[in-house]
Amino acid sequence: EDSTTDGTSFKGHDMLAPFTAGWQSTDLHPLVIEKSEGSYVYDINGKKYLDTLAGLWCTALGGNEPRLVAAATEQLNKLPFYHSFWNRTTKPSLDLAKELLETFTASKMAKAFFTNSGSEANDTQVKLVWYYNNALGRPNKKKFIARSKSYHGSTLIAASLSGLPALHHKFDLPAPFVLHTDCPHYWRYHVPGETEEEFSTRLANNLENLILKEGPETIAAFIAEPVMGAGGVIPPPATYFDKIQAVVKKYDILFIADEVICAFGRLGTMYGSDKYNIKPDLVSVAKALSSAYMPIGAVMVSPEVSDVIHSQSTKLGSFSHGFTYSGHPVACAVAIEALKIYKESNILDKVNSIAPKFQDGLKAFSDSPVVGEIRGTGLILGTEFVDNKSPNDPFPPEWGVGSYFGAQCEKEGMLVRVAGDNIMMSPPFIILPEEVDELISKYGKALKATEERVKE
Ligand code: PLP
Repeated sequence: EDSTTDGTSFKGHDMLAPFTAGWQSTDLHPLVIEKSEGSYVYDINGKKYLDTLAGLWCTALGGNEPRLVAAATEQLNKLPFYHSFWNRTTKPSLDLAKELLETFTASKMAKAFFTNSGSEANDTQVKLVWYYNNALGRPNKKKFIARSKSYHGSTLIAASLSGLPALHHKFDLPAPFVLHTDCPHYWRYHVPGETEEEFSTRLANNLENLILKEGPETIAAFIAEPVMGAGGVIPPPATYFDKIQAVVKKYDILFIADEVICAFGRLGTMYGSDKYNIKPDLVSVAKALSSAYMPIGAVMVSPEVSDVIHSQSTKLGSFSHGFTYSGHPVACAVAIEALKIYKESNILDKVNSIAPKFQDGLKAFSDSPVVGEIRGTGLILGTEFVDNKSPNDPFPPEWGVGSYFGAQCEKEGMLVRVAGDNIMMSPPFIILPEEVDELISKYGKALKATEERVKE
């Protein structure tokens, strides 16, 4: 059985096995993608799909940007690889560090450290923060606070930081030094009569109480995605980050912005930190850094943290951490070109001109009887299906409402991310107005079919 044939059965699709990326088997009846072009991908049978998730929230410049291909080819011909260990490196790695640091202006960033992925970036954050506190002579300040429903990656530490139970209970996680505080999802968690501001105040108070209970001298850092992605696309409620940052600052806790999804224009600002006035000490990026044409992630570090790490390095020994492919010259060359394209093509203007059409067009479906909430900003949007318009009335999981919607989209020639009854979209930044029209029309058809199915 294959859900692509009649849209009524979901056996074997990635939506049922969201965290099995490493297992490759034809038994799972995967949809095999062969080719991409702009906002579209094609499967091995030649069927065309509008890729509303930009791969996995990452192919910001779409499927066939010739400048990225040329940058990779040129670098492959010149120097396919040399490492960035000790005092050796390559020009693309140095140049990208400089270019990348200049893109971040919400607070000052002094140094960049390259990884292959967002997970490795977040694992690197933990080591950096521990090293920093060790250098300051406070080795007990080592706990991390993350948020329920956050996603920070799949390696052991990044999965620990993540607030998704599916990443924890099968693996004896989270690690004991990781704590989780509230998910800032107003629609789902506010109490009757509570405004967004009051909700944010309550969450900041809960965070402060958690810090006081654990002992502020034990809490090293707080990590947050500006807009939560894989947890269901959850933009922060009004005043949330102002209030959270005040608490974090009060107890000398570092703020890590996980910008893996939000960076480079997804929200209509260069970073999510710009949009929500976040002034982080450390930043993680990946995905759109290279528009996903090559795997690369990075950590950016403030001058304060970097100064401590570097001034103490003789006492503690070097920051012994790095990956063979840290600063891979081909990945760096592609990322440099991607940053250049973002700048030269005024990508923020592009995103901001198309985003209202995308957001308003889809939010117009909010009245559907199967929709609980449609939420998002810029070019990221989530739809949550519930019964009776209530966050407290989920559909029975065995109905597979989200999967049904996803299968209908696929039938229509459109790919979305399905996680239970949450549907997520983050199209390429280069999506065209007529493609947004197509997206809205296909979404509407899939929604209508889903409404009818639920009524049966
Ligand atoms: N952080 C966030 C916010 C993410 O969305 C992701 C991946 O989706 C990661 C970290 C992990 O990145 P990667 O899959 O490149 O390891």
